[in-house]
Amino acid sequence: MTDYNQLVAWRRYFHQHPELSNEEINTTAKLQQILEEHDINILETPLKTGLVAEIGQGDQCIAIRSDIDALPINELVNHDFKSVKSDVMHACGHDIHMASVLGTALQLKAIEGQLNGRVKIIFQAAEELGYGALEVVNTGIVDDVSAILGFHNYPSLNVGEFAIKSGVITSAVDRFEFNIQGVGGHAAKPEQSNDPVIVLGQLINSIQSIVSRNISAFDEAVVTIGQVTSGSTWNVIADQAYVQGTVRTFDANVRDLIEQRLQDIAQGLTAMFNATVTLNYTKLPGAVINDQQLTDKAIQVAQEVGYNVNVMEEPLTIGEDFSGFSQQIPGVFAFIGSNSNYDLHHPQYDPDEMILKKVPSYFVNLVKQLLV
Ligand SMILES: [Zn+2]
Ligand SMILES: [Zn+2]
Repeated sequence: MTDYNQLVAWRRYFHQHPELSNEEINTTAKLQQILEEHDINILETPLKTGLVAEIGQGDQCIAIRSDIDALPINELVNHDFKSVKSDVMHACGHDIHMASVLGTALQLKAIEGQLNGRVKIIFQAAEELGYGALEVVNTGIVDDVSAILGFHNYPSLNVGEFAIKSGVITSAVDRFEFNIQGVGGHAAKPEQSNDPVIVLGQLINSIQSIVSRNISAFDEAVVTIGQVTSGSTWNVIADQAYVQGTVRTFDANVRDLIEQRLQDIAQGLTAMFNATVTLNYTKLPGAVINDQQLTDKAIQVAQEVGYNVNVMEEPLTIGEDFSGFSQQIPGVFAFIGSNSNYDLHHPQYDPDEMILKKVPSYFVNLVKQLLV
């Protein structure tokens, strides 16, 4: 049994030394050192950061994934293990994930002889960029994996709470950017310019008509404009405007429809105002879709290890690049309570470390159920 205090110590080490996506050099070295100290085999991969370890032997193989990256946030929690970097923080709790999965790996190593197959332990870089999982998939390292398990700590649930659903559990996350190119000039002579702020006003209204007028009452989507910029002072007509925001969807057809409507709006406004309106649309992680059978097993095991399980009625509108795995392999992803007054990605995010007590037991028992 892995000592809880050891997991806390590892979590605090990672918390104190956070690294941004794709820069997790020290984090990877620390993970490797801990795994090697416990005789756990690290597999060869071309990954620059992150690593894949393997425990057990045999044909069957399942995987457990933890993400490892931090965020460009200035931490405002005053622990004695506060981030040593003023502008980087483990504000998504990936430090909690690493410690939990390390604990899992050590427990699995201790029962390696009883495992009827192999377990790949994936410490994955760059989750926050939305494509770290795909980079692992593209190495081929999960080609022999028949099921993948993951979790995210969740601050609005108390420690001991476990939330899950089969099917779609997180949304697809896309980013859109509009550039409006007009013609600037003197504020007193609008007839000699082409004011991008007028186009901007129409654009904002048009974007917000998509969910209300193009999406069926039986489908769901969020379209949010997060940033609008134009102009520099009161008596000048600007020559450019910029809008960016995000689209969250649960269904691929709805996702495509919204992208198409945004494109139509760009073209329509270009024609209407004789300005140049261009759209840059970036598809980030798709929706995480939980396998029904794995979800049933996960619920059973979570209850056995003492979680209070609640089956979610609706998916969350957050994104999670675990979808990079679960689009290729049957997967199951759960939300486990970490009880913080502040949400994920907040500078005062402060998860309760008691979450570390049960997560390894959940994974170990689920592995035992699956490797039969
Ligand atoms: Zn995050
Ligand atoms: Zn996260």
